[in-house]
Amino acid sequence: MAAAFTLQHVMADSFDLVVIGAGSGGVAASRRAAAHGAKVAIVESSRVGGTCVIRGCVPKKLLMYAAAYGDAFREAAGYGWSVGRPHFEMGRWATAKAAETQRLEHIYRQLLAGSKVTLIEGRARIDGPGRVRVGDQLLQAKHILVATGGTPVRDSIPGIDSCPTSDDLLDLQALPAKAAIIGSGFIALEFASMLQRLGVQVSLFYRARLPLRGFDEDLRTRVAAALQAAGVELHPGAAPRAVQRAGSDWLLILDDERMLEFPFVLNATGRRPNTAGLGLESLGIELDAAGAVPVDARLQTTAPGVYAIGDVTNQWNLTPVAIAEGRALADSLFGPQPRQVDLSLVTAAVFTLPPVGTLGPTEADALAAGHQLKVFEADFRPMRQAFIDGHERCYMKLLVDAATDRVLAVHMIGADAPEIVQSLAVALSAGATKAHFDRTIAVHPTAAEEFVLMREPSRTVGQGVATR
Ligand code: NDP
Repeated sequence: MAAAFTLQHVMADSFDLVVIGAGSGGVAASRRAAAHGAKVAIVESSRVGGTCVIRGCVPKKLLMYAAAYGDAFREAAGYGWSVGRPHFEMGRWATAKAAETQRLEHIYRQLLAGSKVTLIEGRARIDGPGRVRVGDQLLQAKHILVATGGTPVRDSIPGIDSCPTSDDLLDLQALPAKAAIIGSGFIALEFASMLQRLGVQVSLFYRARLPLRGFDEDLRTRVAAALQAAGVELHPGAAPRAVQRAGSDWLLILDDERMLEFPFVLNATGRRPNTAGLGLESLGIELDAAGAVPVDARLQTTAPGVYAIGDVTNQWNLTPVAIAEGRALADSLFGPQPRQVDLSLVTAAVFTLPPVGTLGPTEADALAAGHQLKVFEADFRPMRQAFIDGHERCYMKLLVDAATDRVLAVHMIGADAPEIVQSLAVALSAGATKAHFDRTIAVHPTAAEEFVLMREPSRTVGQGVATR
């Protein structure tokens, strides 16, 4: 009996594919591979569903919906409603959120089981070519896929490791009266926008002149204005030099020696690829300067038979990209023919209130690439806001290549921007020109109709031309 027990633990389980990380990308890859008939195992050390489902996109959007009621209650009076004094209880939201993420995790587990993917719970460590260890279990793998995602940066500023991240915030039972947020990327802006509406006085500290580095300048100025109009205190050019605990509070020490005390400080200074303890060195895989796993266009690492997708490769760091990569890889390895994901047009959304939707190059990048551009813009107060004399505005921008009439980019900040830009992404990926936009009949009354009603460019720029 004892001999049989030992044998069971020495013998390796063999799989066509072992996926490390059961987040959106890993789950998509494993299910697609299994659908092609591959024998697949997926290893997860935390909860099935990963960052997006458990502590990212999904709970964040549920908190965004909660925050949007803050505006809705205020606006309702202008539409004839009498409402009492609204009061938000984070604890009630957190309980409902926990139930929802549990429900989704259960669905993910069922999907894996239904696809005949073996779920192995524990920490995976690559142990040489074709070998993955999970505790005392040894898995033999023809192919290994690293889909371990990212993790919050905790060493960007001395002392910041003591500060909560968005992971922690989403589990709070009560909100502070005041909060400082450090950073001005996706997470910083989304949480600044939400917390302010949930009754927290937010101060946003960032080192750049404008938030959302890498986005179109016209979006950046307007997102800053929208945050300010909502009551968020903006501190551009103010990167804390250090953060210190001061009893139950935190002390921000700014570059100009100012010291500011807050009951809550959110570390939103970025995420980095999650590679600790994976054993990549056993295959000679060297990380790049950002700590990411380098891959080629086929998602292959420098080690034969080992692949990586999603945030661990630090390319787009967006759930749909990880899913698309996972499926393309599974199709390439086990389907009839290899294929690659086309990442030339990826829509990004920032779920501020109002949100941002963006697709294609910024104006500056398009000019740097040598395009002569016709820039079409609309900047208006939507009907819903005008009726109640609200401050929220909507801004839309099309970048059109003057030589070919091709629409290169769509940028928007305003209600439903991510939904609108998602639909326009289909048109752009089909190669739509401005003439196609012009011949499209508007849907009235909507905000989206402005995208097909832009007649005259507000300027033509590039290749020596600059007219307004
Ligand atoms: P981002 O990379 O978007 O932003 C990081 C922020 O931290 C930047 O403002 C950066 O400033 C600042 N920062 C970094 N280091 C320091 C420092 N030492 N001192 C001061 N400021 C610093 O990261 P996020 O954490 O916001 O988001 C992580 C990833 O998650 C993103 O890449 C995004 O793709 C994804 N995500 C996507 C969402 C969506 O699709 N809606 C929502 C949330 C996250 P600077 O700009 O000056 O470098």
